Amino acid sequence: MSYEIATLRGDGIGPEIIDQSVKALDAALRIFPNVQMNFTYLDGGADYYARTGQVAPDNTWKEMAAADAILFGSMGHPEIRMPDGTEVQGHFIVKARKTLDLYAGIRPIKSYPGARGVDPNAEVDLVLVRESTEGLFASFGGGAQIGDDVFADMMIVTRKGTDRVSRYALELARTRRGRPSDGTQLVTCVDKANIFRSLAFFRQVFDEVATEYPDISTDHALVDSFSMLMMQHPERYDVLVTENMFGDILSDLAAALVGGLGLAPSGDIGEDHAMFQPAHGSAPDIAGQDRANPVATIVSARMMLEWLAARHDDDNLRKAADLIERSVIATMAEGQRTVDLDGDLTCSQFGDAVAATITRLGAEL
Ligand code: ATP
Repeated sequence: MSYEIATLRGDGIGPEIIDQSVKALDAALRIFPNVQMNFTYLDGGADYYARTGQVAPDNTWKEMAAADAILFGSMGHPEIRMPDGTEVQGHFIVKARKTLDLYAGIRPIKSYPGARGVDPNAEVDLVLVRESTEGLFASFGGGAQIGDDVFADMMIVTRKGTDRVSRYALELARTRRGRPSDGTQLVTCVDKANIFRSLAFFRQVFDEVATEYPDISTDHALVDSFSMLMMQHPERYDVLVTENMFGDILSDLAAALVGGLGLAPSGDIGEDHAMFQPAHGSAPDIAGQDRANPVATIVSARMMLEWLAARHDDDNLRKAADLIERSVIATMAEGQRTVDLDGDLTCSQFGDAVAATITRLGAEL
């Protein structure tokens, strides 16, 4: 099988981390020569905007829509702003989610060897499912301005949007081993149903959908106290489902449980398209220094293989995904790490190390 991958390196550390994930994919696909992957590199981002006045050319949007999957690095630079004062990355990512209808933002958070989170003894293996097309991002790029001193963005929660993201979370729970504390397959709806009508509705729709999944346990949490509970007892959680903005914030917070943003992958999934990218941004403070941690991007590429494997029933891709995951774990277990995890490898050295492990473990298959 052959797959077309629309690839956006973007800004900041984006090119560095994408290069490592392509390195890992190339190494894995050498083990499975029946699978081919063509990477088409596309323009877009803050630097592109500074040069052209456009966030991305038309061709990028066309290629993204036509590709089998999208692999994305990161975008944005705090000094490059749109006329409304916002940064460029939101305009790209929110447009991609809306036009390709990527409604479920999947953010797995799990421990990797040698990476210390806020509680080094905590058992963490949870997935945050972020509704990605509505919520507080629904009016993005619009909103309302009343005079010079009043601005508004509106929270939009629809039955359709909540139904499908709840369903996604419940289906996902069925495929997992359950929460680390006792193996219960659990979906926790994180909301603020005690204050906002829109989020009370989110909870109501979630509860309605959950009745169709009697085999999956469910509960609710209010986002404020949940933020504390997740940090104190991450082992009690399995799958979380939440509104767009809450998901944005909680996923960065959750990354602290396992050692930081460099370990937080993500997939933006829709019915017909999917985009895979690290949960972090372009990290301009370390860009161009070859010191970013590429794990989140390599693991995002692994998620891309799993999504393609399920969609095309391609067992080789499934095996390639598994090989990449095992190789990241094995590489880190050998003590090979980037500087954010107190290691001494550069971004590209770590990418080389993972590729070498893939080749070694692949030869044993
Ligand atoms: P955005 O809003 O675009 O998501 P952000 O404001 O959340 O971006 P990031 O770019 O994610 O900011 O960076 C936050 C901090 O995390 C920075 O100090 C950055 O250096 C660090 N960081 C982010 N990604 C990585 C990575 N892959 N490796 C090491 N450090 C990282």
